[in-house]
Amino acid sequence: MPEGDTIHYAARRVGAALVGKEIVSIETPQPRHSGDRWPERLDGRVVRGVDAHGKHLFLRFEGDLTLHSHLRMTGKWGVYRRGQRWRRPPRRAWLVIRTTEHEVVEFDGPVLELMTEGRTRFDVHLAGLGTDILSADFDERAYLRRLREDDYTRGMGDALLDQRNVAGLGNVWKSEGCFMAGVNPWRAVADVSDEEALDIVRRCRPLMQLSVERGGRITTWEPGQPAPGRAPRTWVYGRAGSPCRRCGTKIRTRGQGDDNRSTFWCPSCQG
Ligand SMILES: [Zn+2]
Repeated sequence: MPEGDTIHYAARRVGAALVGKEIVSIETPQPRHSGDRWPERLDGRVVRGVDAHGKHLFLRFEGDLTLHSHLRMTGKWGVYRRGQRWRRPPRRAWLVIRTTEHEVVEFDGPVLELMTEGRTRFDVHLAGLGTDILSADFDERAYLRRLREDDYTRGMGDALLDQRNVAGLGNVWKSEGCFMAGVNPWRAVADVSDEEALDIVRRCRPLMQLSVERGGRITTWEPGQPAPGRAPRTWVYGRAGSPCRRCGTKIRTRGQGDDNRSTFWCPSCQG
């Protein structure tokens, strides 16, 4: 699943292609949106900004209209020069926005909605999002406050995935952050100190910012230069059964929380 760093990187690319440019056409090939009349409603409007909050991306058009997207597990944003081959089949495109130079394509949805600017502020779900870990004004106190208001019997790894506590962390960063801070993700929130909770996000933040610069390529463990491939170089994520890079103990994994999301940890380093 794309995490905050991937979405912030997408927002940059989409923004560079669209903001202030003349929109030549807008298409919504997905049957679900065929009756929405977005091309008519957005006709002649300029995109004045593209931004991200956590894993949500917003295309802000002139005249109080905003396209909100969330990729969940499957979606992807693509930005191509006109005529360049798309990286996913055209039948999977949900939204295609063309300028004279670029095609911006949203593939595989699954959340795409056109809303007024006001609704983005008052929508229960969007307004309830926690402080964005990648935001320049990430609010540590707001993060701690939400965490302490949350179910304190919940495992820390599970709580970090809750976008109301902090927006932008996904499975990879949750596992890596807990490792880097030496916190066992199965410890109840009540047993994690404020210092430890802050340590997790403070270690993730600069690495996530770096990942945005590198096109959403996650690297938390770096022996030398970044790998050419896209596979994340991690301490624990995706490494179940392999020896811990610090102590040699076998990395473990197990599903955690209501959604049974895989959590990876070193039972020795994260006591
Ligand atoms: Zn270890």
